[in-house]
Amino acid sequence: MKNLLKNFLIYFLAFLIIASLFSVFSSKTPKSDKVGLEFLVSELNSNQISSIVVNGDELQLVMKDGAKKVAQKETGESLSSLLKNFNVDSQKLVGVDIKIKEADGMSFWLTTILPILLPILLIGAFLYFTMRGVASANSRAMTFGQSGAKEFQIDQKNKVTFGDIAGAKEAKEELKEVVEFLRFPKKFHDLGARIPKGVLLLGSPGTGKTLMARGVAGEANVPFFHISGSEFVEMFVGVGASRVRSLFQKAKKSSPCIVFIDEIDAVGRKRGSGMGGSHDEREQTLNQILVEMDGFEPTDNIIVIAATNRPDVLDPALLRPGRFDRQVVIDIPDIKERDEILQVHARKKPLTEGTDLHKIAERTPGFSGADLENVLNEAAILAARKDKKTIGMEEMFESVEKVMMGPERKSRVITDKEKKITAYHEAGHAIVAHFLPNTDAVHKVSIIARGSAGGYTLKLPSFDRHMHSKTEYIEELAVLLAGHFAEKQIFGEVTTGATSDLRRATALARSLITDFGMSEVLGPRTFGQKEEMIFLGREIHEQRDYSERVAEKIDEEINSFITTAGQVAVKIINEKREYIEKIVAELLEKETIEREVFESIVGPKVA
Ligand code: ADP
Ligand code: MG
Ligand code: ZN
Repeated sequence: MKNLLKNFLIYFLAFLIIASLFSVFSSKTPKSDKVGLEFLVSELNSNQISSIVVNGDELQLVMKDGAKKVAQKETGESLSSLLKNFNVDSQKLVGVDIKIKEADGMSFWLTTILPILLPILLIGAFLYFTMRGVASANSRAMTFGQSGAKEFQIDQKNKVTFGDIAGAKEAKEELKEVVEFLRFPKKFHDLGARIPKGVLLLGSPGTGKTLMARGVAGEANVPFFHISGSEFVEMFVGVGASRVRSLFQKAKKSSPCIVFIDEIDAVGRKRGSGMGGSHDEREQTLNQILVEMDGFEPTDNIIVIAATNRPDVLDPALLRPGRFDRQVVIDIPDIKERDEILQVHARKKPLTEGTDLHKIAERTPGFSGADLENVLNEAAILAARKDKKTIGMEEMFESVEKVMMGPERKSRVITDKEKKITAYHEAGHAIVAHFLPNTDAVHKVSIIARGSAGGYTLKLPSFDRHMHSKTEYIEELAVLLAGHFAEKQIFGEVTTGATSDLRRATALARSLITDFGMSEVLGPRTFGQKEEMIFLGREIHEQRDYSERVAEKIDEEINSFITTAGQVAVKIINEKREYIEKIVAELLEKETIEREVFESIVGPKVA
């Protein structure tokens, strides 16, 4: 369609150019005077003309004295009838040499046909393209019930195999079984085993769920239908359900195959809990998925893989045996897995000799596979901007921080006063973090603005932790508050720079009490039921399951946690004031301090 339009335009332009060139070159014989028809008639009558050449509507006259003149006749009127109309005696024409030049093809086209044809062509083209637009909109409207599932025939070149997926060992083991089912279904049928119909992949965003599903298809070498949950949901009620039907019809035709429903939480939310208009539609779509999954026979050899990062909101009916009865959890990678993921993605990138990806893995706790890929990509971009041929550690460290906290904003203008305040603020965080026994080691302190932060202190755990104690959290609170208290101790007042620290500290303190049961006063229980409600967009709604009186107590406890942590911070800030001054001096000079320099000033971290 686009091509057609393009070709049409190209030909059309070429035509116009040729036409205009032609008209320039074929322009009238030079140096001929234009004369009127009366002149022609009178000269004929006085026998002054030796020859007349008729060229289209142009009459080229050559006089007996050799002069050349040009006259114009009416279009369509012949010379003879013209002369008759002017009552020229035919005897007068005897000595005149009259030649009729055929208007040649091209000029006939250009001068006669084109002016008539052009508007018609333009109008025709206009009508044609608008009609097409309407027609395709119509046909789209008529086919909205069909699924837009994209089928990926396994393309041998871009095929994803388990080898391209690092880490996630348990998940891969589980899914290898699924691959077996698809490759050798007979083996299982013969033993009367029921092949699972559905596998649900659970994991945070970016942990490689989509990748894993493609890996299964690649390993089993079967067709792969990919559709996203949100594609079922459309303007018209009932569309989702009919899309599901057509998707499964298509799948049955090309079995054995994999149907992959990405982000299934878009349709698979608990029924009957939604608000607002679209919820009926979702329910119907979900019902249809359940019906289809119940409907196909084990011998159909279709396996439905679905992925979500919100298993908590899924309808329990989806998780029943016979539907998505297998659940595969894909975790955020640990340090070893991060190392492996980095290796996988570094394969296609030229790294500087001696780069140690393990160091990057150490610095990136909590990063997902997608984040790690992004780190390498950002590093490559940085290296390219520095006109380097390979990617070095420096670029990778830089890009880790960029991915964590946003790009550096070196150009942000700050006054010396602001710089000094930021330096004391960050030194406060760093010193308190360093001298508390259960906190993570300080890897970097900087007063260069990054993202929305004025400066930052980078602390990293030396190993991945899965559990945290109350002591650790109180110390973490103290570190969060340290910036605020450092400003207060040194300058006697605080700035707006600590706002986000305070917000995070308050949220953390609240969690300790309401989610982790770490308050002695309120005891080991949780407070509030978080429930997601969809109403005009996304919104988390917390339902109170406690009384007003308890709410007051929670507030008091939050205050008491924060006060305790604040006292810890203030104590360290006062005791270690000399170190703070040293760090501040260093920061004001260098703007950034790495771990080695930091520890050479304050001594190694005692854990
Ligand atoms: P999800 O669907 O879980 O949100 P994706 O499967 O889309 O995440 O993963 C995004 C990208 O992250 C992938 O394209 C891949 O490049 C990278 N990635 C994630 N996990 C891994 C892994 N375990 N091994 C290699 N690459 C990974
Ligand atoms: Mg995905
Ligand atoms: Zn801070």
